[in-house]
Amino acid sequence: MPGFDLHVHTTASDGACSSAEIIRLAADIGLEGIAITDHDTTQGLAGADEMARAAGITVIPGVELSTDFDGREIHILGYYLNDELEMVQDKLTGMQNSRLKRICRMVERINRLGYKLSVCDVLALSGRGSVGRPHIARAMLEKGHVRTLQEAFQRFIGHGKPAYVPRDKFSPGEAVHFILAAGGIPVMAHPGLSKANSLIAPLAEQGLAGIEVYHPDHSPAAEMKFLQLARDHHLLATGGSDFHGINKSTSFALGCRTVDKQVVAEMAAWRKRR
Ligand code: AMP
Ligand code: ZN
Ligand code: FE
Ligand code: FE
Repeated sequence: MPGFDLHVHTTASDGACSSAEIIRLAADIGLEGIAITDHDTTQGLAGADEMARAAGITVIPGVELSTDFDGREIHILGYYLNDELEMVQDKLTGMQNSRLKRICRMVERINRLGYKLSVCDVLALSGRGSVGRPHIARAMLEKGHVRTLQEAFQRFIGHGKPAYVPRDKFSPGEAVHFILAAGGIPVMAHPGLSKANSLIAPLAEQGLAGIEVYHPDHSPAAEMKFLQLARDHHLLATGGSDFHGINKSTSFALGCRTVDKQVVAEMAAWRKRR
């Protein structure tokens, strides 16, 4: 399976596999490269370069930022962010803290609804990584409060459900500016899920470099439409599997969506032009 999978989660956020496991798996299935794009953290990239070299594949550093647009969640991918910059570290640390506080409030709500769960149960699953709702869902599943992860979202922690607590987020424009300031390439993740096509043109004006055309949640027709939108706005057309390991369904298998190395070359050219 040649090509590059530009959207992969690890245990540094809500993925089920470590970077080491994913890099090995990627090499085994013949991928040329992957981008590690954890939610609001770059911790999963520690040591990834050496592991990638040993495995004979390329690892592109990335991050997936959650943003808020009128109460809707829009994800913005950032590739090649310089995470050694102090302002980047500060911002990402702030996001980890706000995630942790929010998890505490959601657990309180779940308790008030009559279900026993502790913050430790949730943190045992997230480890030192970016903690999120999927960890709560898994903890509830393990406690027997729900039968599926989906049920946890539908009954408790999905947007607008009784244990849902929002958290402070960037606006999509702020995320684009942040990624640019950090030397990265901002790309709108899975526009088909975000349902924010009207945002593409104004964000492109603000420096958005690409849209994720190829994603397992996009139908072939949607991919054609997003490819056309990318062309209309002179944006990179990226893609990836959004692999989360067993935390998500098999349609999100590693490498199920890839782009060829031409796209990676276009990303390099985009960086050179800046
Ligand atoms: P968080 O960043 O903590 O708000 O969690 C968001 C993540 O939860 C998303 O990236 C999805 O992976 C997952 N998620 C959100 N809504 C659902 C849902 N209805 N069913 C399953 N997973 C979901
Ligand atoms: Zn996720
Ligand atoms: Fe996403
Ligand atoms: Fe993702």
